[in-house]
Amino acid sequence: MFSEVVYGIEKYKYDLLEKELEKNGVEKKAYIKEYKKLFKSVVNFKFPEDPMDQLLAAIEAVFSSWNNPRAIYYRNLNNIPHDIGTGVTVQSMVFGNMGDTSGTGVVFTRNPSCGENKLFGEFLINAQGEDVVAGIRTPKKIEELGDIMPESNSEVLVTGLAASPGAATGKVYFSSEKIKENNGGILVRLETSPEDIEGMNIANGILTVRGGMTSHAAVVARGMGRCCICGCGSLELNEEIKEFTVGNLTVSEGDYISLNGSTGNVYLGELNKSDSRLTDEFKMILEWSSEIGAMKVLANADTPLDAEVAYNFGAKGIGLCRTEHMFFEEKKINHVREMILAENSNERKIALKNILPLQKLDFTGIFEAMKGNPVTVRLIDPPLHEFLPKERGEKLKLAKSMKITMEEIENRMLKLEESNPMLGHRGCRLGITYPEIYEMQSRAIIEAAIEVKKSGIDVKPEIMIPLVGKVEELGYLRERLVSLVDEIIENSDLDLEYKIGTMIEVPRACVTAGEIAKEADFFSFGTNDLTQITFGYSRDDAGKFISDYMEKNILDADPFETIDIKGVGKLMEMAVTLGRGTKKGLKIGVCGEHGADPKSIEFFHSIGLSYVSCSPYRIPIAKLAVAQNSIRGRNYSF
Ligand code: PEP
Ligand code: MG
Repeated sequence: MFSEVVYGIEKYKYDLLEKELEKNGVEKKAYIKEYKKLFKSVVNFKFPEDPMDQLLAAIEAVFSSWNNPRAIYYRNLNNIPHDIGTGVTVQSMVFGNMGDTSGTGVVFTRNPSCGENKLFGEFLINAQGEDVVAGIRTPKKIEELGDIMPESNSEVLVTGLAASPGAATGKVYFSSEKIKENNGGILVRLETSPEDIEGMNIANGILTVRGGMTSHAAVVARGMGRCCICGCGSLELNEEIKEFTVGNLTVSEGDYISLNGSTGNVYLGELNKSDSRLTDEFKMILEWSSEIGAMKVLANADTPLDAEVAYNFGAKGIGLCRTEHMFFEEKKINHVREMILAENSNERKIALKNILPLQKLDFTGIFEAMKGNPVTVRLIDPPLHEFLPKERGEKLKLAKSMKITMEEIENRMLKLEESNPMLGHRGCRLGITYPEIYEMQSRAIIEAAIEVKKSGIDVKPEIMIPLVGKVEELGYLRERLVSLVDEIIENSDLDLEYKIGTMIEVPRACVTAGEIAKEADFFSFGTNDLTQITFGYSRDDAGKFISDYMEKNILDADPFETIDIKGVGKLMEMAVTLGRGTKKGLKIGVCGEHGADPKSIEFFHSIGLSYVSCSPYRIPIAKLAVAQNSIRGRNYSF
């Protein structure tokens, strides 16, 4: 086809050759050699082997076709001027001939003969577009596609935000307890909280009514590699009678639904799924990407298992370990609750003493899994009341273990409540009011690092302070932590290098990054919070209006998914310039959800960031985008 279209060699010559070869019993794979000989005998040069040469020749052929007699005749017939020129669109091939689940076809939104407003078209299974055009096989009517592939019949029940890719089917359950009881299913929640971690891990997929692309459900599901759809605002959930409605359709507990986490579509019933395959070509592309990429790709990982997955995808370290996710494990949660509800520093210290060995164990596992690559551990961030029990039974259990009344538990909890927790007592603000918490965590990190290093595995721990807006916040914490950490290292007879850095996720931190850099060994942009605070859009509620804003062209993309270059990006650029103005070559990365978004990566590359960090399952896409940006700046001649 290429010879005919691009070099005008008549197809019948190849047909005759093919018959001849068949007659002589020549093996099919030897045909190519004979085709090439024929090619050379006609045009007098060798068949071009370089894909780029082939592409350019094809483009030239399309331009030249503008002046062939058929095109001239057609323009005359349709009164098309000869001087308007033409264009060529180059696009990657979509193969229709890859077996019985692929195909080709042509559809019109109306019947082209009579104009009837009804889908009109035809298709061929396991074929390329050329097969339809050439008339070598008879296409089927589009109406028959439903019989051959009944799953393309499925009706979309509702569409939300495509928060975490993959496909999931299962019975609907409205609580993590039910998911655990049934060992799976689709967890449907108004929104998720850290209490749902275990349920989310067991669930086949997650569907929430509220929350945007950086809400708890989205971030955690991506980290776990679990399919998730968020912000399905048109879904009316009634957790009490255990059902949800969409329009006049009701879905009850135990009914099957299916999720497509790549499109955000929710379907009624149990659709067929197929496993994704990791091919050798996929691994090869990842290796090439790693060799060529200018920015490092690190992982957001909170458990040894996540770290292992990330390492196997080629992560060059951990850019964000969110320690609060570790606090929710069964063994720890009661001690954590005791720490939060402690009345004084002494009580708090007792609870922290119980948490220390457990935290240490987490870090040991993560350091071992990362085999000497840097691991950035962020000290606890979300507001404390998120960790407190919501159910009566849990509160009673806690009251018993703390030897106080239920009333007292509820009183203490009331004191911790905040009307806007996202802007409340979280991040370094917690670390400053309760220094014992960050001290315990830093001790756990460093003691674990020493243990792992003693076992022969290299460790590069980095301690990261969240939500810093003033250099004094970082200075206060750094001073305390450095003296504690240095003392632990000194008593260990071992050399251990460590870093203390900060998240840059508050606009004030960007504007004063020059000062903040004096106290920081590295910066990591928390683009989730930076977007939230810069726009003033709550991460958990923005899902309600973002799609309206996009439809009405107020936003051209969800800023929690793709970085807003003009606003948030401007702040980042300023922070990079100011930070590196103080400390030349300062390591600066991104660990918000934008870290795996190809369009955002293009921007991060342009402002000279050192790394991006993202959930383990998004590492391949981030690596590819980083490599593409590194190539983009280079010149190629064909
Ligand atoms: C961020 O804000 O971008 C970030 C990485 O931290 P978190 O999502 O945990 O607030
Ligand atoms: Mg943050």
